[in-house]
Amino acid sequence: MTTSITDTLHRPLRDLRISVTDRCNFRCVYCMPKEVFGRDFQFLPPGMLLTFEEITRLARIFVALGVEKVRITGGEPLVRRDVEKLIAMLSALDGLHDLTLTTNGSLLARKAAALKDAGLRRVTVSLDSLDDAVFKAMNDVDFPVARVLEGIEAASAVGLDPIKINVVVKRGVNDHCLVDMARYFHGKGHILRFIEYMDVGATNGWRLDDVVPAAEIIQKISAELPLEAVDPNYSGEVARRYRYTDGGGEIGVIASVTQPFCGACTRARLSSEGKLYTCLFASHGHDLRALLREDKSDEEIAAVLGTVWNNRRDRYSELRTKNTKPQHVEMSYIGG
Ligand code: SF4
Repeated sequence: MTTSITDTLHRPLRDLRISVTDRCNFRCVYCMPKEVFGRDFQFLPPGMLLTFEEITRLARIFVALGVEKVRITGGEPLVRRDVEKLIAMLSALDGLHDLTLTTNGSLLARKAAALKDAGLRRVTVSLDSLDDAVFKAMNDVDFPVARVLEGIEAASAVGLDPIKINVVVKRGVNDHCLVDMARYFHGKGHILRFIEYMDVGATNGWRLDDVVPAAEIIQKISAELPLEAVDPNYSGEVARRYRYTDGGGEIGVIASVTQPFCGACTRARLSSEGKLYTCLFASHGHDLRALLREDKSDEEIAAVLGTVWNNRRDRYSELRTKNTKPQHVEMSYIGG
């Protein structure tokens, strides 16, 4: 039986983002800068990670508390060995309406069919430019665009769509590529989503001046490919929706900096070592792994989750100022 719990701002718990690894094969400059996440960086040892059984048990408890959608994240989730097995375990959960995954696409061409067979519903792929030089500068590992596009094709071919394609926009880095991306994906059935550059974590050197506001992104694209606003699919949807007036499809903007959406935020995050975070910009989490490994019952764990959520008051993006000093956990640790 599902109960529904709300926080201090009357926001229900609906979405759970599960990070299955803090590792990644990219070093995107706005998420895992090489200077910090270099050769000597100490990633979580395997024994510290939740097992697939532990993740599935927690997900079952979250679903009983009202979670309807699970998103698998990382780091890069496809670098976690046999992640398809976890997908199969989660997709068997009663009451889970949606199961999706966010990836950098580097391994998608190889894994798409297995993920689909395991029960994955949809996939979101990060691709910050179609220009190889720009993309390589942003992922900082010289990974070519073509291989990510192959992954998108493979995912589409097995029916993991509509595919959402996330583009983090940083002024002076890839903002000159936006119209080209819109033209390329226009009419292809995928949903491009432009994301305002955020002060996630504490290592990406974020400055407000590097943010391209959503309004400017829309204006730039609409000048070439006219757009009109579309109503959200559901309350709490992260992206603001727009569609091409010529019927060429839909795009979205995620405007955490200039148009924050904390008022309808229904997302909880679970790190790969079992800590619960109630905001992307949180600085501390609640250790659920200890409860699992101390053999607490589902009821005892559910009570802890309920108390954490009931006391939640996060709305960082509404409170962020130009001078806010980020003390957040790294996005690569709790997933986007
Ligand atoms: S800043 Fe925190 S509370 Fe606001 S939308 Fe993002 S995750 Fe939710």
